[in-house]
Amino acid sequence: MKLKYRTAVAVLLGLTLFMYQETYPQKKRNKAVKANLESTRPTAPEISYTISMSKPWTHLLEVEMRVKSSALPEKSEIIMPVWTPGSYLIREFARHVQDFSAFDSNGNSLIWSKANKNTWQISTKGIGEFIARYNVYANELTVRTNELNDQHAFWNNTALLMFPKDQLNAPSILKVVPFGNWKIATGLPRVANQPDTFQAPNFDVLYDSPFEVGNFKEITFEVQGKPHRFVVNGEGNYDLEKIAKETAKIIEQSFKIFGELPYDDYTFILNLRGGGGLEHSNSTALQWNRFGFKPENRFVDFMTLVAHEFFHLFNVKRIRPDSLGPFNYQNENYTKLLWVAEGATAYYENVLAQRAGLMSDKDFLSARAAAIQALQSRPGRLQTSLEEASFDAWVKYYRQDENAVNNQISYYDKGEIVVFLLDLEIRAATNGAKSLDDVFRLLYRDFFKQNKNYTSEDFQRIAETVATKSLNEFFSKYVRGREELNYNSAFDAFGLKLFTGEGAEAAYFGADLNQDGDRLLIKTIPAGSPAYNQGLNTGDQIIAVDSFRANQTFLQSYIGEKKPGEKIKLTIFRFDQIREIEIALGGLPPRNFAIRVVEKPSDEQKRLYAGFFGTELK
Ligand SMILES: [Zn+2]
Repeated sequence: MKLKYRTAVAVLLGLTLFMYQETYPQKKRNKAVKANLESTRPTAPEISYTISMSKPWTHLLEVEMRVKSSALPEKSEIIMPVWTPGSYLIREFARHVQDFSAFDSNGNSLIWSKANKNTWQISTKGIGEFIARYNVYANELTVRTNELNDQHAFWNNTALLMFPKDQLNAPSILKVVPFGNWKIATGLPRVANQPDTFQAPNFDVLYDSPFEVGNFKEITFEVQGKPHRFVVNGEGNYDLEKIAKETAKIIEQSFKIFGELPYDDYTFILNLRGGGGLEHSNSTALQWNRFGFKPENRFVDFMTLVAHEFFHLFNVKRIRPDSLGPFNYQNENYTKLLWVAEGATAYYENVLAQRAGLMSDKDFLSARAAAIQALQSRPGRLQTSLEEASFDAWVKYYRQDENAVNNQISYYDKGEIVVFLLDLEIRAATNGAKSLDDVFRLLYRDFFKQNKNYTSEDFQRIAETVATKSLNEFFSKYVRGREELNYNSAFDAFGLKLFTGEGAEAAYFGADLNQDGDRLLIKTIPAGSPAYNQGLNTGDQIIAVDSFRANQTFLQSYIGEKKPGEKIKLTIFRFDQIREIEIALGGLPPRNFAIRVVEKPSDEQKRLYAGFFGTELK
């Protein structure tokens, strides 16, 4: 997501009013917090939280929330977010709340009730402070949820802390009471002279700052004079010094694009289980397999995750699409621009890795070819545009079913490819003088620095400004539309050509299978494949092929010996009833896509290629 530090106040007619949202550079954060805390606004409540973990084995994080105000309403409402920015799904964090109680400052119980699924309403008539206490069950380690156990605590404040209704602009203080001698890592700044106490100028910053508390290993390093901290929880085959060294290169390459590192400090939190990451303004939460740092290609995969989340601090946390910040934490936040927010970030994770020397130009191109092959084998590419896929993320991308391959595309995967083509288009149009870097530099200058979010129209206009030509056809076909991408028209200027494999001699069945113990099940069926056209269904259990017992290995090798047009007879269970279905096999679609060098590239092609990769076309 991105970095939004808003809270600008204007004094008007003797009243202090929230006039508009303003983005604060990170440097001003502490000052802003202080200013807000010290302000005498009558409506600004004092909000503080204490988070304890006295019995980690119960997985219960203990929250005490205090709200003090000279103007508490008769009924105060506190609200649990339903989602966490960066992960576009309603997750209903309120479902993990238990043991709720409310008190006044003298410890007298207050009457409370639920107003809806995630709002707690407390009777606060005639009092100036209330205290809410609740526990949150934390036993799900993902980058957007919470985990507490005897090893550590990791949490996202969106999944833990309620906010007072209509007070998202208010500052708050957060105190952590660690278990035993556990250490704390977070991107939030500390409050001076108060141990384990942190501050946030508003809820977008508070909710943007995950915590890791435990006996983690850590390394600190400087890049461009800014401190960086890499914190790792768990044992594994990683080399923390190597990670820090390569991460510093990724940061240097990002600095080269934007000319600054817009934070005071940056924290990488890595948990060695699962995989994935979530971006924040001056931190990121990462997960990776504990033994996934060797061999070298897996290490490079890990570093592209680091690069992805780091690049997000620019693209999405600061260069913000229309509706992505300030956030509405109670509903979906719709945007057509996730293909830029995620697709361009997925593209730059590879660009940064290539520029940092972690992958060669050939590695870069073969990964792009594999991505193109995956997109071209997905019937959903003709059903959903990039803008549609972005907008519907809430009900589609995060809720994929067996039909997703046929009616959806990923705004990450297709976004990354379209952004690659756009970069090539701009470089070719400007004879190598400009690139996608210039587009992001302009977005950073004209939107982030101006405290504005950008729209779809803004993005196209900025790209056209950099390309010095209309890109309307490109955007209407590839971004708003669902047309096939023309790869070679983009590759040619760089002396490259997409190779889509030889003719299909091998037989093709067309269902993706899943061997579940003894059961061979059909997982998905791409539209248009022989399996799809001849009546097989997702969930069918294949028992035999031509009356021989089938398992996945046997079926694949059996079909491998057939020719296109030959028939096989499948015996299946469908809903516990046995059936036989005859399938005429088709021809295997093209595989082994590659991006190759054209014969006898011209000097012009060589020059553009070298401009892209910093290395010679060979
Ligand atoms: Zn991302």
